[in-house]
Amino acid sequence: VMQRALFSRSTLLAQQAAAAIDSPLAARSAPLLQRLDRTMSSVTIPPPACILRPLEAPLRYLFGPGPSNVPPRILAAGGRPIIGHLHPEMYEIMNDIKKGIQYAFQTENNMTISMSGSGHAAMECAVFNTVEPGESVLVAINGIWGERVAEIAERMGANVHKMVKTPGGYFTNKEIEQAIEKHKPVLFFLTHGESSAGLCHPVDGIGDICRKHNCLFLVDTVASLGAAPIFMDKQNIDILYTGSQKALNAPPGTAPISFNDRACHKMFNRKTKPVSYLFDMTHLSNYWGCDGKPARLYHHTGPVSGFFALRESLAILAEKGLEESWKKHKEVAAYLYRGLEDLGLKLFIPERDLRLPSVTTIAIPDGYNWRELLAYIMKHHQMEMTGGLGPSIGMVMRIGLMGYNCEKTNADMALHALADALKNCKKSKA
Ligand code: PMP
Repeated sequence: VMQRALFSRSTLLAQQAAAAIDSPLAARSAPLLQRLDRTMSSVTIPPPACILRPLEAPLRYLFGPGPSNVPPRILAAGGRPIIGHLHPEMYEIMNDIKKGIQYAFQTENNMTISMSGSGHAAMECAVFNTVEPGESVLVAINGIWGERVAEIAERMGANVHKMVKTPGGYFTNKEIEQAIEKHKPVLFFLTHGESSAGLCHPVDGIGDICRKHNCLFLVDTVASLGAAPIFMDKQNIDILYTGSQKALNAPPGTAPISFNDRACHKMFNRKTKPVSYLFDMTHLSNYWGCDGKPARLYHHTGPVSGFFALRESLAILAEKGLEESWKKHKEVAAYLYRGLEDLGLKLFIPERDLRLPSVTTIAIPDGYNWRELLAYIMKHHQMEMTGGLGPSIGMVMRIGLMGYNCEKTNADMALHALADALKNCKKSKA
């Protein structure tokens, strides 16, 4: 005990000294001394010096594939005083969010909610609820997101079939129909905005094919919602999800998702319970007031601040209008393409119409080390751009100009930073 106490005391004194040197706020050392007694009596793990220092989060230009910068209005909404997750005002806010998502997705689906979690939570929710172990699932893989969904479906015991193309590749409706005929899946997954490759996949006609073969059509719009047109109802998409931190410009941590009647029929008539309690739509639909029952019961404590921020981001999209938002992303992307080509860079997706307007992929310029270029841009311009992800690593560099960040002035800044990096980073093999 003595040894522990001595350890605690000397450690604390060292921390106190360190805190006095490191922290600009000398006042921090006083509470530390007060805590000494407590630590000596029962606490063997001392408070870490790092946590006693003030929080530091630098201001950065988030011009990568997400998260994107959050505008002050959304930050302020997230900073409002907390209310209870089951208060009537919170239910109102959740009802507003539901309406906002219905607009953003262009759907009248009643079963429209936000996950308490990032885009992955929506991916897992979609698969866990609509697929039972042993059922066949078909996944289109042309970048990392299909790979992820295939793994999620494998983990819950589905019989997973993969259609694979290299990053940037896309699937024709004929290829999709042939694979559906062969594997008879209950669910077909496609990424609309493949952020790892910079591809915006065509969606028209696929929903009809799925319907014809009694298969649900699941589409990921995490990176494309608000940036490229998607019409959930008109395009016969059965399950659609997105994330909060891309063109919606809310902080990461919430993820809108919607299920149509076909999807609801499948997920509410299953023989087994979904593997996840947290993501079970039987409970979530009640929590979000979608199940027609008079009482909304406690299931989990939703991220209250995250929902405030999400509501504000959906309000901004509704004020601006979807069509205006799509147009802006297209215009700024076209401006960026011109600037990149003027710098002698090559766009990774050759077909202009297939490029994702929110995330632009550049082929790594010959001879350069892409890690060096990106590190230079971060160091000298406080600007995030990223390399590839999953199968596109080493193939691309990515620039994201999404929502609030989607301005020609920001494209100019990104181009200036790139030009500077190309000039100053020695050509060396990656
Ligand atoms: N799908 C796509 C297309 C994405 O771009 C991302 C995030 N980069 C995700 C899914 C996963 O979202 P999250 O990181 O919020 O879990």
